Amino acid sequence: MRQSRLFTKIEKNPPKDEESLNALLLERGGFIQRLMSGVYSYLPLGLLILKKIEQIIREEMNAVGGQEILMPALHPMDNYIKTGRENISDLFHTQLGNGSKFVLGQSHEEVVVPLVQRFAHSYKDLPVAVYQIQTKFRNELRAKSGLFRGREFSMKDMYSFHLTMEDFEKYYETVKKAYIKIFERTCIGDKTYFTYAAGGTFSKFSHEFQMLTPAGEDTIYVCDKCKVAVNDEIKNEHPKCPECGGALGEPKKSIEVGNIFPLKTKFSDAFGMRVKNEEGKDVPVFMGCYGIGLSRLMGAVAEVSNDENGFIWPKSVAPFAVHLVYLRSDDKNVKAEADKLYEKLTAEGVEVLYDDREEKSAGEKFAESDLVGIPLRMVISEKTLKSDSVELKKRGKKEAELVKISEIKKYVQ
Ligand code: ATP
Ligand code: MG
Repeated sequence: MRQSRLFTKIEKNPPKDEESLNALLLERGGFIQRLMSGVYSYLPLGLLILKKIEQIIREEMNAVGGQEILMPALHPMDNYIKTGRENISDLFHTQLGNGSKFVLGQSHEEVVVPLVQRFAHSYKDLPVAVYQIQTKFRNELRAKSGLFRGREFSMKDMYSFHLTMEDFEKYYETVKKAYIKIFERTCIGDKTYFTYAAGGTFSKFSHEFQMLTPAGEDTIYVCDKCKVAVNDEIKNEHPKCPECGGALGEPKKSIEVGNIFPLKTKFSDAFGMRVKNEEGKDVPVFMGCYGIGLSRLMGAVAEVSNDENGFIWPKSVAPFAVHLVYLRSDDKNVKAEADKLYEKLTAEGVEVLYDDREEKSAGEKFAESDLVGIPLRMVISEKTLKSDSVELKKRGKKEAELVKISEIKKYVQ
């Protein structure tokens, strides 16, 4: 993409009314724009990141047999009366002109159970896992943490249906591993802990994936030995590590980036969902749900991938692989060579943001390039062209090296 065509601009000053680092930097860099508290637009650079994250999650959910669907965001209130969740505090309510009541989906159990119920009648139809990547609405009281806590946000939610508790438990472990892969691939794996949390009324535990950050709203205690953590909310019940009995470390601030939850038969029972087992007997269906906030995950990666000059995006989620920076010159040939290189790299499938702007100085361009945080900066100028080269520098590193244009390929793979 040619930066001269990019309609967003980098802001010199941090936005007002924004407290969290992730939103401050993301807004300055033109990745997102706040419409109101907890509600953001994704601009070209930000949407590219969200899509990269989405694709990683999609690949891992497909790998564990998840079937992708897309459910509505507008839900009939009747379904919530069936599950007893019509009064939960973060539901947005709305109604039709004729008075019938609806809510905006904050989760999708009330939609997915009747949906799968239509197709699952016997043990032969199970197990099933369906997932979607979709906008959720929650009437959050506090929405001051940028992408961490949206009132409208993007979530991947998967729901699995099983004939037996044993089958559910096996699948739960499989999804847990897929989640670990997702956080490794988005490069927060080393900061993210599998965490025991309270399970609500229908199961003893749920499990969260908590990423350590001082900006987080949760507190966890990490086991010194096995790296499992315990959420503050169950710490009294579990003063020791629930897996190895080891001592728990000091309290640390964290943000929940994902959550896996045994639902047992709570929601399937609410809709009278039963299937015939091998003996022809009607039996209940065991469920699990598995969520990841995509926008929160983007905020989490943003929160921990930066220095004083701006972002240092990991390759896997970066909006572009290469930031090609042209330094203006009176020699028209320099721009022509820069254009040629941009066209060539793009034709080869390299994702390039090309700073082709004439009006900006080298200093301004470097500062903006640091703020945008693309992993590899490639400067092309009159000086580098004297040796048919470009200057390559990895974002976050000090050293730059001159590389012959004919040899660039090795560096951009
Ligand atoms: P929290 O305790 O942080 O409010 P939650 O327990 O309400 O999270 P779930 O209902 O399990 O979260 O939602 C699944 C995932 O969706 C969470 O792990 C988180 O990544 C994300 N998520 C939840 N609420 C928000 C929000 N308001 N904004 C952005 N992401 C969210
Ligand atoms: Mg919540």
